[in-house]
Amino acid sequence: PESRLPGVGTTIFTVMSALAQEQGAVNLGQGFPDFGCDPALVDAVADAMRAGHNQYPPMTGLPALRQAVAQVMQTTQGVAYDADREITITAGATQGLFTAIQALVRPGDEVVVLEPAYDSYLPALELAGATVHRVPLTPMTFRPDFDRIAAALSPRTRLVLVNTPHNPSGTVWSRADWQMLADLLAPTDAWLLSDEVYEHMVFDGQRHVSAAALPALRARAVVVTSFGKTLHVTGWKVGAVLAPPELMAEFRKVHQFNVFTVNTPMQHGLAAHLAQPQHYLGLADFYQAKRDHFRAGLAATRLRLLPCEGTYFQCVDYSAVSSLGEMDFCRWLCTELGVAAIPLSAFYRDGTEQGVVRFCFAKQTTTLDAALQRLARL
Ligand code: PMP
Ligand code: GLN
Repeated sequence: PESRLPGVGTTIFTVMSALAQEQGAVNLGQGFPDFGCDPALVDAVADAMRAGHNQYPPMTGLPALRQAVAQVMQTTQGVAYDADREITITAGATQGLFTAIQALVRPGDEVVVLEPAYDSYLPALELAGATVHRVPLTPMTFRPDFDRIAAALSPRTRLVLVNTPHNPSGTVWSRADWQMLADLLAPTDAWLLSDEVYEHMVFDGQRHVSAAALPALRARAVVVTSFGKTLHVTGWKVGAVLAPPELMAEFRKVHQFNVFTVNTPMQHGLAAHLAQPQHYLGLADFYQAKRDHFRAGLAATRLRLLPCEGTYFQCVDYSAVSSLGEMDFCRWLCTELGVAAIPLSAFYRDGTEQGVVRFCFAKQTTTLDAALQRLARL
């Protein structure tokens, strides 16, 4: 058949994990923890199954889980959401993003995407028929360039996508950043799609600021999050979307025919677990310790560490080590040194090369040490 996505191959995360496995490499490529979740979370899911919670939940998600999501937003951002009308449980953030895009973007609508961008955004926009304006974040600092964002906006802009804490760069938007965007969007009718899946992983005493924390943005924002990141269960593929009622009504029109709903026992387990704030409030310290351990190890190499304010990703500039392109350098790292990483060029539609790769440090100390030992040659 004629492809609907002619420029798209297999996602880099699948490609690099396969190469890591084939090479027996330490996999710091695809972002996922190599340690277990809280056993109490597994028990809560098993209990839900045994209690007979095995049929369809409501289309919008289990009320207790929607309420737990509202409570997290209240606790961390001081922002109220109506769990019935403004929150829907999704099959991971990926489905939340995809469904939001299909619900809001019509063929020919203009959409602004900041690059480097998570790799699911552009294919979803292409399927919706969007006219995409890709705006680069400032090279190497990965801060938003509001002059360039302003230049990309027009009266026809339907949607702007933002991701903070940012995958792959680990940068974090401040309230001042959001205020700049709010001012730029004020004269437009654009919606905002805010990918906040790493909301609980912000370091050094900084705090995540949700788009929803600014009333002007809350009114036009679809906020996406993922329990996989927060509770170390990326394979469960459960997330949530928050949006004002008129936006959520459109989201649910698509959601009901996209997946209809998300598996019941996991939702019960997640609801019970998330109701206890200690399960997400300690996450920043937990990952900051891993970040610091990994950075301290890399400091002995010629890799130049870029700042990491949040997420579980550390980017490095390898230009003092090799003149290979990013994908070739990742292949070399994986096959010769036995460590898998992700080329930043995979987050740019035009394959922009900066001599930067991304490592995931959501790993046990023994895994990080095994990788550091191999990277010590650099
Ligand atoms: N957005 C970003 C920025 C991500 O890093 C990820 C996970 N890799 C997702 C969305 C997708 O999350 P999920 O696994 O819940 O679909
Ligand atoms: N979000 C993860 C990453 O950036 C991977 C998710 C996936 O494999 N699709 O590494």
